[in-house]
Amino acid sequence: MTDRPTTAPAPAGEQAPAAATRVLVLNSGSSSVKYQLLDMRDGSRLAVGLVERIGERTSRLKHTPLAAGGETRETNAPIADHDAALKAVAQELSRDGLGLDSPELLAIGHRVVHGGMFFTEPTVVTDEVIGEIERLIPVAPLHNPANLTGILTAQALRPDLPQVAVFDTAFHTTMPEAAARYAIDPKIADRYRIRRYGFHGTSHAYVSRETARLLGKAPEDVNVIVLHLGNGASASAVRGGRCVDTSMGLTPLEGLVMGTRSGDVDPGVVFHLARVGHMSMDEIDTLLNKRSGLFGLCGDNDMREIRRRIDEGDEEAALAFDIYIHRLKKYIGAYYAVLARVDAVAFTAGVGENAAPVREAAVAGLEGLGLAVDPQRNAVRAEGPRLISPESARVAVAVVPTDEELEIATQTYALVGKNT
Ligand code: ADP
Repeated sequence: MTDRPTTAPAPAGEQAPAAATRVLVLNSGSSSVKYQLLDMRDGSRLAVGLVERIGERTSRLKHTPLAAGGETRETNAPIADHDAALKAVAQELSRDGLGLDSPELLAIGHRVVHGGMFFTEPTVVTDEVIGEIERLIPVAPLHNPANLTGILTAQALRPDLPQVAVFDTAFHTTMPEAAARYAIDPKIADRYRIRRYGFHGTSHAYVSRETARLLGKAPEDVNVIVLHLGNGASASAVRGGRCVDTSMGLTPLEGLVMGTRSGDVDPGVVFHLARVGHMSMDEIDTLLNKRSGLFGLCGDNDMREIRRRIDEGDEEAALAFDIYIHRLKKYIGAYYAVLARVDAVAFTAGVGENAAPVREAAVAGLEGLGLAVDPQRNAVRAEGPRLISPESARVAVAVVPTDEELEIATQTYALVGKNT
């Protein structure tokens, strides 16, 4: 319930006042909405929250008004759809004087997973943009419909406000054709829009830039291998601030071993499971996307649990860890060759930022490539970007925490600020 008066909405069509510096970032999934309200004068977070289990009987809204004391409020009333979810979020924000009708709100930035080849940059949402995101649904059936629902819902709530789409694929559109194309008939590839798009681009862009900053250099002068190791995981090769290769492909299934995704497998595995295992396409899809990776190998996808089991002598967990590291090392080697000169390897996301044993194992034995980890530096738990390579190392190895919401807000602010 709203227990404070809210500010009257700005009339449609009126320019945002000069003081409008807040950006709301929305990450809309099929049954969830994650959000953050940021003040772009200093990038500070005013509120963060999450609506889960939308459309189910027990939805949950968790809201933390960081600007107003930071005490988390949780409500468990049923929330029928995204429209109801966003209205509930708006109501929570209003309670702290941060409502969506505030004149200080400049724009809403939306995470959109698939932008195909069409969207190479963050884009102000128009009818044409909505049409194109819709046309990309066949290549991102799980993500784009939910992202689109978030955009349409926010638009209905504040039609006068710029909505900005920030695409997970955009950073990777600079990949050369040699890296982006699969070795299949180009006519068939083009007809079905089959190519390597890559994902986690917002994170790779942010982390590669922050790594350059950590080294005290301009992004144009630095070559970085970024290892985004979360539940989903991807690697990228970034030359002078531009992505030249990345490990995810047409879908997020390709590349590294992940929490529940297999990463690279011989496509022959799919034929074999269909012909010999008599599995349907949907069953194989579920197997490779949801029941493989670390989880498929050992029944756990949380690296903390896997490490705990290894410490107790569990061989299944040890083998899962070894397979994960072997693949990671192969990609470090591959991107070293792609870049030829590497200035830094940056670890990020849940596993990359927290799991020192993963970082140590991933570069173990690569001293010949100038890569090493200093055990003491690697063991330090800290918040910000930091070097973990020895003082004299030829290549910097770093832990660089990612911040996709800040990056979406920054890109949104840069775009809308330019236009107003
Ligand atoms: P998502 O892909 O869901 O955004 P995150 O980047 O939040 O994932 O990473 C989540 C994963 O990070 C967890 O599944 C777990 O494996 C790993 N993780 C989180 N904290 C730790 C930790 N302290 N030590 C090791 N691994 C961790």
